[in-house]
Amino acid sequence: MVKPIKLLSIMLCFLLIPFLVGCSSLFGPKEYSDQQFLMDTLINIEAYGQNEKQLKAAVDKAYQEMNKIALLTDRFAKPGTAAYEQSEVVKINNAAGKKPVQVSEDVYEMIEMSLKYERFSGGAFDITIGPLMDIWGFGKKEKQHVPPASLIQEKLSLVDSDQVFLNKDNRTVFLAKPKMSIDLGAIAKGYAAEKAAEVLKQAGIKQALINAGGNVVVIGKKDQDNLWRIGIEDPRDTQNVVGILSLEDEATVTSGDYQRNFVENGVLYHHILSPKTGKPARGTWSVTVIAKSSALADVLSTTLFVLGPEEGLKFVEKLDGVEAFYVGADKKIRISSGLKNKVTVQAGKKYSYDQGR
Ligand code: ADP
Ligand code: MG
Repeated sequence: MVKPIKLLSIMLCFLLIPFLVGCSSLFGPKEYSDQQFLMDTLINIEAYGQNEKQLKAAVDKAYQEMNKIALLTDRFAKPGTAAYEQSEVVKINNAAGKKPVQVSEDVYEMIEMSLKYERFSGGAFDITIGPLMDIWGFGKKEKQHVPPASLIQEKLSLVDSDQVFLNKDNRTVFLAKPKMSIDLGAIAKGYAAEKAAEVLKQAGIKQALINAGGNVVVIGKKDQDNLWRIGIEDPRDTQNVVGILSLEDEATVTSGDYQRNFVENGVLYHHILSPKTGKPARGTWSVTVIAKSSALADVLSTTLFVLGPEEGLKFVEKLDGVEAFYVGADKKIRISSGLKNKVTVQAGKKYSYDQGR
């Protein structure tokens, strides 16, 4: 039986067929959404299309793709488990100082891209940050704490992307110094979200949103008339937003000091480290990057976080098709020049925003 409201709208639809006004609920695409916990994050996918079965199949396949990337890049898999055997990052790190390791195209691509942006950013982005992450306790189990300065100095000598050697022909990765370790935490989620989006697009989906814990990819528009609207969280009150992005066929990633941190002696320490000092990078509360590629947006969100607002915005202006939204530790919101027509800034009373910038 058709419910009264539906019946009325069916009648209206037939009356208005030439104009197709108000019929979207009946003839418009169906929504299929799902959530899965992967890469320490709840990952949401919503996809729209005509056939629910096909939507489900595509979304399931997208999760499989993300799960594959999650397993390949898991740095904290426990010895003796199936996950340990599947993690290429574990293999690379275990072979540091010993021998090159052959890897999948995915892992090779992530490392190649990471090394490229290490150079571009003058070392702000560095996947050889692993040993430092460990001493701060930003691994899985360890208790987080401020490590002694001497230990930071000791581990800083292992942070050196020049000691990562790639061989394209054999697709191998070699960490030249013993005890070096790579950590793909700043790129893997963005890369996985991008691969998931490719799966959905290959399945013919023209409208979808993937949200992997602050790594968002949108396919197409939200609907015929509207772009996707994505809120940028207030880094000091995540229930509120400081900006709303309007996006179509692009990705946005936020890195923030509020996402993983601890407080010691009244000071907040977070998980994005400066490869120069070996300590949490200061100056940024959060930075949101908008780019066509979600892997790139992820790399750049971490890079820009480390660079800080002033240097970071100069860096962004040199890159094509990349925009950024900073919430600085100085409580200033700053945006890149190309973002003005894509964002509504909601600085509120807490933050200052100079439109002229
Ligand atoms: P999140 O993981 O919260 O989404 P990011 O994308 O900024 O945030 O990634 C932070 C992760 O990147 C850290 O947990 C660590 O694994 C890694 N990392 C920390 N500092 C750096 C750095 N300077 N360069 C590259 N990777 C980093
Ligand atoms: Mg990142």
